[in-house]
Amino acid sequence: METIEYIIQTIEKLVNIPSPSGFTEEVMSFVKQEAEGFGYQTEYTKKGGLVVTVPGKTKRCVGLSAHVDTLGAMVRSITGKGTLKLIPVGGFMMESIEASYCRVHTRDGRSYTGTILTTSPSVHTYDDARSMERVEKNMEVRLDELVASKEEVEALGISAGDYISFDANFRYLENGFVKSRHLDDKASVGVLLGVLKELHEKSLTPERTVKLVISNYEEVGHGASYIPQEIEEFIAVDMGAVGDDLGGDERKVSICAKDSSGPYDYQLTNRLIAIAKEKKLDYVVDVFPHYGSDVSAALKGGNNICGALIGQGVSASHSMERTHRQGLWNTFLLILGYLEEKNE
Ligand SMILES: [Zn+2]
Repeated sequence: METIEYIIQTIEKLVNIPSPSGFTEEVMSFVKQEAEGFGYQTEYTKKGGLVVTVPGKTKRCVGLSAHVDTLGAMVRSITGKGTLKLIPVGGFMMESIEASYCRVHTRDGRSYTGTILTTSPSVHTYDDARSMERVEKNMEVRLDELVASKEEVEALGISAGDYISFDANFRYLENGFVKSRHLDDKASVGVLLGVLKELHEKSLTPERTVKLVISNYEEVGHGASYIPQEIEEFIAVDMGAVGDDLGGDERKVSICAKDSSGPYDYQLTNRLIAIAKEKKLDYVVDVFPHYGSDVSAALKGGNNICGALIGQGVSASHSMERTHRQGLWNTFLLILGYLEEKNE
């Protein structure tokens, strides 16, 4: 199979495995299986992240991260009428989840479907259906179960603290658009698995040893706070912010010079720009005004690294997201170019 088609098919599988931050066991074991299928060694970190090692020509070690956790929610409480109040996991606006199908995951392994609605969900009934503020206290989950009281919901095994995941609604269009929830950052996990496939099938050995860090708490701020000590350079592969006055779009790979956590490493960023130029990639250098990455988490965690941030542009991030085959491919090629770089 063509690598780009593998990447997109893998993204589809990934977005359909529910994995809000901290609820990533199943999706992580899928990533582990794929990586091991290409012959690479993996190990779990104590907090459930995955590290994949690709031996290089030298012992010098670089890291690439992508996060497999997504936005989601938890049950805050069960109402007297048998709906669920929710509390967000990660940062999003309530408008972006209104009218979405979702799934509630009980701690004993059952799951139930439902829909996220406001507490005034129909214009035929409620005066304030349109005007009601879309804030946490006005949102709830309508379960697809015959329940009309708190006790009946509890009898399903549902309780406060259960995870709620949002259905992805994945579509891959003929013109190359890939639209789905959770492209942040499962699109990049797909790209990194595509890189492993390429290295394996073409028997390529990168110049430096590569550790892929698949993190599982990025959306709540501490994803890659721990990374293996031998990593000298660390690149977060995460979505490129697009819109307003930014230069990025879904067909480009963004190279981020600065986000809310501060500037990225000057020389490493320059090298990535040089690779993108040399390979004639469709790229853009941007700054992301409201953004932090796994590199930010790694630096705050005290790691002695220099870091950079790259990734395919994602439209309407943290809402109904969309990227493009070309953006994924440009990101893939930039990573391969980086892995071919000779040691200075
Ligand atoms: Zn992200």
